[in-house]
Amino acid sequence: MTAARSVLVVGESLAGTTAVRHLRALGHAGPLTLVGAEEQGAYSRPPLSKVVLKDPSADETLGLALDGLDVDVIRSPAVAADTDRRTVTTADGRRIGYDALIVATGAGARRLAAPGQRGELVLRTLEDARRLRARLADATSAIVVGAGFLGMEVASACAARGIPVTVVDTDRPLERVLGAYLSAEITARAATHGIRFLQASGFATLTGDPVRGVALPDGTELTADLVVTCAGEIPCVDWLEGTGLAGRLGVGIDHACATTVPGVFAAGDVTYLRAQGTQPDRRAPFWSNAVAQGRAAAASALGLPLPGPAHDDYFWTEVTGLSVKVVGRLPLLGEPTAVQGSVADGRALLTWNHADGTSTAVAYGLRKPVAALRALAATSSSD
Ligand SMILES: Cc1cc2nc3c(=O)[nH]c(=O)nc-3n(C[C@H](O)[C@H](O)[C@H](O)COP(=O)(O)OP(=O)(O)OC[C@H]3O[C@@H](n4cnc5c(N)ncnc54)[C@H](O)[C@@H]3O)c2cc1C
Repeated sequence: MTAARSVLVVGESLAGTTAVRHLRALGHAGPLTLVGAEEQGAYSRPPLSKVVLKDPSADETLGLALDGLDVDVIRSPAVAADTDRRTVTTADGRRIGYDALIVATGAGARRLAAPGQRGELVLRTLEDARRLRARLADATSAIVVGAGFLGMEVASACAARGIPVTVVDTDRPLERVLGAYLSAEITARAATHGIRFLQASGFATLTGDPVRGVALPDGTELTADLVVTCAGEIPCVDWLEGTGLAGRLGVGIDHACATTVPGVFAAGDVTYLRAQGTQPDRRAPFWSNAVAQGRAAAASALGLPLPGPAHDDYFWTEVTGLSVKVVGRLPLLGEPTAVQGSVADGRALLTWNHADGTSTAVAYGLRKPVAALRALAATSSSD
């Protein structure tokens, strides 16, 4: 017998479907309900920027199936939760009871448009990707606001179509995530593919209605056929108002994905790991983390021991056709040790040793199984 008689998972995407699969795999035989907000059901987001923008046939390959599992799927967004009565209300008026609730509502794209300003393009959903792909078909110039992994992937999609693109940010490309060393290499490589980087002294403002450009604090104004905002994400927590579960960073969890409210657990991009010791509150909105947390939340909701750590520090991206796979702590400060190849040649295996004795391993433009990267990060650590 398991602790929770009925489990409700809100959010039908990676963290939510992982939790559902693991609830059943762990032996939960009671009622299981999954509440989703997107008509087409769960799908994988990383290919949206890497494949879907280029290839319409990819749209059909993204589904995250729940085949064979006995799950009551309701496609109507949650609009309120009452954690005293243990109920969640959906937009279509249903009130669903639960013994354990798993919050997996992810995040939405951060938008920069002023109230009422039309035509801002973002990339978070399949619908966004289809809209952007249609616009890419006849664009002759593009601006991407934000030089994080998503911004650089969108810029790469523009470059792959021969569209000159300017990426604008206050920090250099991928520097916040990967550090100065790899940022410099990636920026130089991107330039050879027609991706120009413009470092701004402050935040960009979108101009035009519909949006046609950006204005920078130093007075610079740029215009293009296409302006895409890739300025981060905002946790989807509106429906949790009044529960005390959520703040600006999302839903705070501990290492077992438990929130501060009894019977409520959370996983994926909607979460942040609450401060512990010298570690501050920390968001890690990446694929592998959503999977690890989906599993952990399922076990915790059933009162079972964790199947493994509730976080995973594997991350990957692709810039101008070059894949960068990372296992370990970020950002990467200083210079790496080259274990194999060289960054200048576009194929290298690198490690960074951190002050706390841990290491990060990076496969730069090199095919390397994640397991091998994990082993390299572990053997390079000094403790
Ligand atoms: C274009 C793109 C590329 C990416 N590439 C990479 C990559 O290369 N590597 C990597 O590690 N990560 C990548 N990511 C991040 C990765 O996709 C996310 O970490 C992952 O999708 C998080 O899963 P999630 O289930 O927590 O949240 P989400 O995928 O955001 O899903 C949350 C779901 O909850 C639904 N929802 C929201 N509010 C409600 C509500 N009130 N009621 C019911 N449902 C609701 C949403 O509609 C959504 O379907 C990428 C993300 C994007 C957008």
